[in-house]
Amino acid sequence: MPARSYEVEAIVLATRDHGEADLIVTFFSLERGRATGIAKGAKRSKRRFVNKLEIFSFLHLTCSDPAGGGLVFIHEADLHTPFLRLRTDPPRYATASVVREFLLLALREGERDETVFRLTLWALHGLDTGSQRLSLLLLYLLRFYSAIGYRPVLEVCLTCGIKVSPSHGFVFSHLGGGLVCASCAAASGHPGTRLSPGSIRLMQSALELPLQKLHRLKLTNAMRQECLAALHLYGRHLFQRDIHSWVMLDSFGNRDGTTARPVQT
Ligand SMILES: [Zn+2]
Repeated sequence: MPARSYEVEAIVLATRDHGEADLIVTFFSLERGRATGIAKGAKRSKRRFVNKLEIFSFLHLTCSDPAGGGLVFIHEADLHTPFLRLRTDPPRYATASVVREFLLLALREGERDETVFRLTLWALHGLDTGSQRLSLLLLYLLRFYSAIGYRPVLEVCLTCGIKVSPSHGFVFSHLGGGLVCASCAAASGHPGTRLSPGSIRLMQSALELPLQKLHRLKLTNAMRQECLAALHLYGRHLFQRDIHSWVMLDSFGNRDGTTARPVQT
């Protein structure tokens, strides 16, 4: 008897060809977390899958589990939104790729996380509809680290415990995961990333506000640069590896692309 099918809301994180006709798809779903499935005949079936099983697409999938474990069977895909701009606008593709790389690093197969799922949809939607892409990435990473259990400490010095205030200089220690006052940073021999009082207030607000109000925060270019530098180092430290897509992100600098050149995935 065939396994019972079920339906999920899913974001496509990766795809690769399998033989002549099939496609292997890694996706992150609200209901079942990260999973890897096979879409049989996906490269031939115009009706069921064409232009749907694409990286970053948000889909409604009909699946079933194989009897002995292994790849999930993907039977049908219906498109909620293709987030097309993320695949056609190179700077936005680079930004979404950083989001995707962090998800692939953080989520284990079968791991479900509703907060991260909703945060990721918020980020992809913002990138697709024209939000300032580096501001959006900064806000995403702060909330993402918090959601996976590594909320940066932004209220007191990690070492001596003095309250964070604009009258003292503070740096972000990616090794400790939070702010350290200038004297403790000097004593430790780890310089950290300098953050202006404005950047510190911004990061504090970004962790407090509800998701739907984050777009109200006003960011300057200097804030984006120093906060993203700190959050990049923190991510590398948390996962103990380079974030490969950051090289592509850096290659676009501050450009907010609008070209429609297709990007190879
Ligand atoms: Zn201190």
